[in-house]
Amino acid sequence: MALKTFSRRVLFKLLNHGVAASDKPIRAQNAAATVVARSSVRDYYNNGNPRFPMPGGAAHVRVVDLRSDTVTKPGPAMRQAMAEAEVGDDVMGEDPTVNELQKIAADMFGMEGALFVPTGTMSNLIAVMVHCRERGDEMIVGDLSHIHVYEQGGSAQLAGVHSTTVTTLPDGTFDLEQLELKIRHGYPDSHYPRSRLICVENTHNIQGGRVLPMTFLQEVRALADKYGLSVHMDGARVMNAAVAQGVPPSTILQNTHTVSVCLSKGLGAPLGTMLAGPQDFISQAVRCRKALGGGMRQAGIVAAAGKLSLLDMVRRLEEDHCNAKTFAQALLDCDPALFAVDMAAVETNIVRFSLQESSLSPSEFCARMGRVCEGEEAALGQGTQVLMYPHFGNSVRAVWHLGISPEDTQLAIQKMQFVASQFLKENHRAQ
Ligand SMILES: *Cc1c(COP(=O)(O)O)cnc(C)c1O
Repeated sequence: MALKTFSRRVLFKLLNHGVAASDKPIRAQNAAATVVARSSVRDYYNNGNPRFPMPGGAAHVRVVDLRSDTVTKPGPAMRQAMAEAEVGDDVMGEDPTVNELQKIAADMFGMEGALFVPTGTMSNLIAVMVHCRERGDEMIVGDLSHIHVYEQGGSAQLAGVHSTTVTTLPDGTFDLEQLELKIRHGYPDSHYPRSRLICVENTHNIQGGRVLPMTFLQEVRALADKYGLSVHMDGARVMNAAVAQGVPPSTILQNTHTVSVCLSKGLGAPLGTMLAGPQDFISQAVRCRKALGGGMRQAGIVAAAGKLSLLDMVRRLEEDHCNAKTFAQALLDCDPALFAVDMAAVETNIVRFSLQESSLSPSEFCARMGRVCEGEEAALGQGTQVLMYPHFGNSVRAVWHLGISPEDTQLAIQKMQFVASQFLKENHRAQ
């Protein structure tokens, strides 16, 4: 039985591969025709959308994957750079490609040094460990921050660091008075932990890609300076913030001591995060990375991809922001009016929206978007699976990235309108 399932899966893969291979010339033509001017960027795109055979039919289904910008795959140019990368033992500091990447990142972020680490989660943990160097030190984080919600409490579990939270506001900031009240003044009285660190997140993930205002960062830094604390930015998507604000990342980072920037999200690298800060911080971070098992050897293979992320992929983020806004506007314009979205909150590549009908839950909506519905091919000429996730606060989240073209965005819009009108029809019938 298990063997049968397995061989069926293998067969499915082979068939699928065959379909993709025979499709190639047509898809290559399409890609070339759609975007001529940005050919170097277009090299990073996936070779078309994944396609799946329809059950019992020859037609193809388009998949528009808006679950996360982590689903991006390296395209031909990135893979070639990886294949040709010069490498060495990076634990010995001898990988030239890693060293170059670290130099590029440090310069770009206006920091003394930068360190290549496997993931954003490890990067944030290392930052916390270096800033909060004594067990029982305390950091202040937003209650909806990635560090607090999605990193398994690694700071407590592995670093012995205590957290206190401030309320994350809808724009990703927090109230500065509340922040100041959370700073402890009891040290060295043995009752109290010692406040060490304030963490901010830019763009803010749970709040839908919100860009932190520069004034907020200045005010947080002023408070930190007043009480001798450090500021770490979880800047997984800080390049999106820089593009949205039209400033170099170093301008945003003037008011933070350290930053963690993901290469593996909208910037399209297969993996990797840059942790940047002052030289003494980086020296300590190298030690922590090793202790956590993140010392990598010939890491230049992946650092080569990271170099392209920083040098070539930033400029195309604007395209994601534009597609996200187009989709958000279409949600608002949808007839029947089923969606609520705050256009002012769509600042980067993430759209968070809610459903106006209580009988259509976020998970039911996502399920309908994710499968080819009855009558869809007849109505739209093609079946499309649009993947998105139910999100925090009874909302739905959709994320744009380099695998999603303007054409894919239009397909997602068509599908959304189709799902909305089908839902309305069913509802009428039920009444
Ligand atoms: C994705 C993300 C991280 C963690 O990155 P991983 O590489 O997935 O560990 C951290 N912070 C924010 C805001 C993120 O979006």
